[in-house]
Order: sequence, then C-alpha cells, then structure tokens
Amino acid sequence: MGLGHEEGFGAPCLKCKEKCRGFELHYWRKICRNCKCGQEEHDIPSSNEEDRKVGKLFEDTKYTTLIAKLKNDGNPMYKRNVMILTNPVPAKNISIDTVTYEWAPPVQNQTLARQYMQMLPKEKQPVAGSEGAQYRKKQLAKQLPAHDQDPSKCHELSPGEVRHMEQFVKKYKKEALGVGDVKLPGEVEVRAPDESNLKNGGGRGTSSAVGAMDKKTPNQKASQYCCYHCKLRMKEGDPAVYAERAGYDKLWHPGCFVCYTCGELLVDMIYFWKNGNLYCGRHYCDSERPRCAGCDELIFSNEYTLAEGQNWHLKHFCCFDCDCVLAGITYIMVNDKPVCKSCYMKNHAVICQGCHNAIDPEVQRVTYNNFNWHATQECFLCSCCSKCLIGQKFISMEGMLFCSVECKGKMMS
Ligand SMILES: [Zn+2]
Ligand SMILES: [Zn+2]
Ligand SMILES: [Zn+2]
Ligand SMILES: [Zn+2]
Ligand SMILES: [Zn+2]
Ligand SMILES: [Zn+2]
Ligand SMILES: [Zn+2]
Ligand SMILES: [Zn+2]
Repeated sequence: MGLGHEEGFGAPCLKCKEKCRGFELHYWRKICRNCKCGQEEHDIPSSNEEDRKVGKLFEDTKYTTLIAKLKNDGNPMYKRNVMILTNPVPAKNISIDTVTYEWAPPVQNQTLARQYMQMLPKEKQPVAGSEGAQYRKKQLAKQLPAHDQDPSKCHELSPGEVRHMEQFVKKYKKEALGVGDVKLPGEVEVRAPDESNLKNGGGRGTSSAVGAMDKKTPNQKASQYCCYHCKLRMKEGDPAVYAERAGYDKLWHPGCFVCYTCGELLVDMIYFWKNGNLYCGRHYCDSERPRCAGCDELIFSNEYTLAEGQNWHLKHFCCFDCDCVLAGITYIMVNDKPVCKSCYMKNHAVICQGCHNAIDPEVQRVTYNNFNWHATQECFLCSCCSKCLIGQKFISMEGMLFCSVECKGKMMS
C-alpha cells in the first residue's frame, strides 16, 4: 500500500547534519533508516502532502469550507489561508517589502489576522522561509500524524483493524475535532451557560449565534474576560481565540491556544476538545488509544504487549538497531529503546577499564564516575599492586584504581 517511501527521500537531517546520509523512510517505523530521527526533523521540501492530510482530516466534518476537492482525483485539499502583507516603505526606498505567512487565521478581517500574528512569539509566526515556518511544519507532522487518521498510512492492518480505526476517526471528528475562531471579545455574544452547552446544542444552531453582534447588550469591555489558559485578563482591542466545542464563554490569548499535554501552539488552531482541555491530534489520540512505541501507530488490535512502560504491537517489539523480534529473548534498554544483546555488544556496550573488552550486560560490573569494570578480580584491581578491590575501599583517578594512598603515590610520581 502507498506508504510513501519515496517522499522526502535524501532530505538532510536538521538535527544530525552530515551524520545522516539523507532521509530514507524505515519500512514500518516512522523514522529515518539512516539517523533514526523522525521525518519532521528532516528538511523535506514542502509538498501538497500536508495539505492533503489536513484536507482529509476536515472531510465529513463541519469544516468543509476549509477544503476543496481536487478536480483530478477528487481528494479533499486543505485551503490554507496564506496571507501576504505588503509593507509600503518610505518613498525614497524603491523596494517593496512583502511578508508571506504560510498560514493565517481564516478570517475576513485582515487587521484581525495581522493582530493575531503579532501576538504570537516571533519564532512561531509562520513567515515563509523563517524559523516560524519550520516550527509550523514540524508541528503539523507531530501533532497530526497521517497514520492517526488514514488506515492506508499504517503498516499491514487487518480488515478488522481498519474498520476499528475508521470508527475511531469518525468518532473524534464528530466529538472532539475543531478549529479555533479569531474574534474580538466584544463581538462575541456570550450565552447563558445552560444554553451554550454544546452537547444538546445541535438543533439550536449554536454556530449561527456566534459572531453576531449583539445589539441589545452594550459592548462589553475586553478587559473583563480572562484567558482560559493563563487566567490573565485580555487587553482592550486584542483578538482572542475561541473554540466552539469549549463554548463561547471561554477564550484564549493567541499564544495560549496550546495542547494540554505537549504545550505546543495548536498548529493552524486545529484542536481536539476533551474533558475541559485542548489537545493536539496526537495527544488526544494518545488519551483514547494505546500507541505502539515501535511504529508510532495507534493500536487497534486486542493483541499487544506492555513492556518498559510502553505499548507495542506484538510484531513491533523489536530491536531498535537490527529489527529482530525480541519476544522471549534478552534485550537491553538504550535511551528508552530496546536493543537485542548482540547489537548491544556491538554498538552500545560499555568497555571495561581493566581488560578493555565490552562488558556483557548480564554480568556483574562496577560503575564509578562514568568508568566501568568487570566485577572480577582480574579487572577490578589496584593499578599498582594488583590487589582485588571488590568490596574494598579504593581511590579512583582517571579510570585507574588504587588500594591506598601509597600505591597511588607510587604510580603517579
Ligand atoms: Zn537525524
Ligand atoms: Zn536521517
Ligand atoms: Zn493567556
Ligand atoms: Zn500535544
Ligand atoms: Zn507497531
Ligand atoms: Zn539487534
Ligand atoms: Zn574486564
Ligand atoms: Zn595497591
């Protein structure tokens, strides 16, 4: 199935630099075969793959105004609001400065969109070619994994797992998914709490009340509203972000519209609402399903294993270095990843200061100040008189061991 192995092939890793030969997707893990970083760490040129993914996310939701069907294949595409601002510069200067935002809130009023942008930290403003655009791209990959919504992006699912996943996706689209709304607090009609309850608001046309200027009550001062995240008051004239699923009695500073779990700015204001909190797609899904620590996919099979505090598809509890299946064999955790014993001895084992051989993870060893020894009388001994130091007091200097000040003095002089 179309796992898109070719996508981004050869792209340099921004984290590993020249240590990575270029991006090459592992056949079932969602990482680079060469450096083991995620795709999002690589400088993969933008393609419409991201817009396809978000387009698919909004398919069959109330956010279809944000997508367009492609003529050639009928697939939904995300219609991102790209904002190009032209800053007229002093007449003497001939050049005209333009700034392109790769995404901006989809509001009619450009002043509002501009104000929204200015309220984000500079390094998170998605200005084309800037650090902020990189940040947005990375968050798009992390927060909204294609394999959390599209069974064809998952590895070898059974028909039952596909069905299960489709139901899950349908459910979160219906119950949790939303896109933030940017408005001036004075413009929003705040309904009485019992009326704003979304659960039974379906037939009442909640959205039609939203954004309508309430002519009966005088405009309320923005400063009487507090941000749901930081609890600080809103400043007069500043726009706020609203989330329909949360109800219009809640609002956020643009920079406070973040995921409850990872604390990152919700990419393109796409949120999932659950139990009074905003989540990104990844962390909402994590709160609903186990996620395989091997392939990063959500698990829809009843058969999976819990090891080292993480969940794994049975077939994905594998050595991180050679991919051999680890069920029933010895493995060692290295940086939270399981590694088989032979890969461990080859790539990760610590070296004994005494005999300079790799130390088998299953034998006793002594570790002191980042130095290691076999815990044997052949290896853990005084560098001067060869007395075994197991269970004895010792002095350690640059990986050398001494039984006494005298021995140390003899060797160091
Ligand atoms: Zn890397
Ligand atoms: Zn790489
Ligand atoms: Zn705030
Ligand atoms: Zn998150
Ligand atoms: Zn897996
Ligand atoms: Zn291995
Ligand atoms: Zn040794
Ligand atoms: Zn000695």
